[in-house]
Amino acid sequence: MNYLPIFYNIQNKPAIVVGGDGLAARKADLLLSAGARVSVIAATLGDEMTRFQAANRVQWLQRDYQTGDLADASIAIAASDLPDTNRQVAQEAEQLRIPCNVVDHADLGSYIMPSIINRDPVQIAVSTGGVSPVLARMIRTNLESCTPSAYGNLARLVESYRQQVKQTFPRVEERRKFWESVIDGPIAEHVFAGRNDDARALMDQLVADASADPQYQGEVYLVGAGPGDPDLLTFRALRLMQKADVVVHDRLVSDAIMELVRRDAERIYAGKERANHAIPQENINQLLVRLAREGKRVLRLKGGDNFIFGRGGEEISELIDEGIPFQVVPGITAASGCTTYAGIPLTHRDFSQACIFVTGHLKDGSSDLNWEMLSHANQTVVFYMGLNNIQAICDHLKQYGRAAGTPAALIEKGTTPEQRVFIGNLDTLPALVHKNQVKAPTLIVVGEVVDLHRKLHWFKPGEEIK
Ligand code: SAH
Repeated sequence: MNYLPIFYNIQNKPAIVVGGDGLAARKADLLLSAGARVSVIAATLGDEMTRFQAANRVQWLQRDYQTGDLADASIAIAASDLPDTNRQVAQEAEQLRIPCNVVDHADLGSYIMPSIINRDPVQIAVSTGGVSPVLARMIRTNLESCTPSAYGNLARLVESYRQQVKQTFPRVEERRKFWESVIDGPIAEHVFAGRNDDARALMDQLVADASADPQYQGEVYLVGAGPGDPDLLTFRALRLMQKADVVVHDRLVSDAIMELVRRDAERIYAGKERANHAIPQENINQLLVRLAREGKRVLRLKGGDNFIFGRGGEEISELIDEGIPFQVVPGITAASGCTTYAGIPLTHRDFSQACIFVTGHLKDGSSDLNWEMLSHANQTVVFYMGLNNIQAICDHLKQYGRAAGTPAALIEKGTTPEQRVFIGNLDTLPALVHKNQVKAPTLIVVGEVVDLHRKLHWFKPGEEIK
């Protein structure tokens, strides 16, 4: 081990930063977050440092570094763009036994700065001993994605109960077990879901009655899995996918996404092929309730977003009626994901001032949709579940005044390696479906913005890398 990892208290201590550019500013910012009184020595300041100075966050000594500048410092950072200055700062720091970091020259200074994952008061610091900052950053990114942002809140909750818990559980061993059950159990889940009041209520109950067992009460995670590309999952979705005991999933959830669910989780398919639901909606709601009552962490995983043509509202309404705790995680809805991957902006200052998401699943071939409103020019209309009614959709739009030449697109299996995009207009779109054997899931996009695809398309699936 070439370096000793430590966490150094510099609250209210004097810190010297030599250098005034962006790099120096970022170091100064870190020192400030740790509570240091920062002085900056530099002949000129870059934009960032100028802002710190204007806000009185740092004290600026407008000159070059001079011997003796470090005399009172608790910590120093040499971030000047003059190598000789940095070397001089490092040497003087060494003589004075003041810790000094030289930016981009680990070997010159006495300490190096790690990559930080900050969930204040929780800090995770990553170092490769200065060997590969790129590797350290990559590790950091990985940790960022699996470290809930609410860890900070959890740590603060723990802190606020420390004394009480010490009194309730005088023996160290008991106390350790108690904290383990808090940090890995329902109290932590409440905090991660933003239910701080519930977390406190449960803590109060457990501290008041030391014999109570914080049994895990089942919970439902209603998670939007996005349109298909697993990279479009949210951090929270991924965390809950890896935590669940049982997954109730849809046909629209791609295999690549199912791969990321905890290996040993039970899987229940609740596919929703048209008019052939593997499990009727009524039963899905009951199923979620039953599984949660068994004490399981139930992941309800659906394509896109649960609150956009996803029946999420119906499902949580039932959970509320039955008193089952739940959390909802938004997903990227097909309209957003598929059009982005097809290079079709949903709005555009010149062509489209509004955007409407509408179901194309028409009752009796027609529907109670407001066709007049949908047929206005200069807006984008996105039809979900419209493939089977494509002819009726195009006919209605034309009948209510949308020009027959209005550009329209079909996006099949958007965001996945099998994505196909077909461009036509209200006259030609239905024939494109038959000619190309377009299958569900497919999104229909109508509006002037569709033309932009020709220039803006960027995602080219299916191209082999040789
Ligand atoms: N809740 C989902 C929509 C469910 S309705 C969401 O927010 O995206 C199902 C319809 O969504 C499909 O019929 C299709 O029109 C559309 N859809 C979902 N994923 C799609 C994809 N990857 N490519 C194209 N269309 C998709």
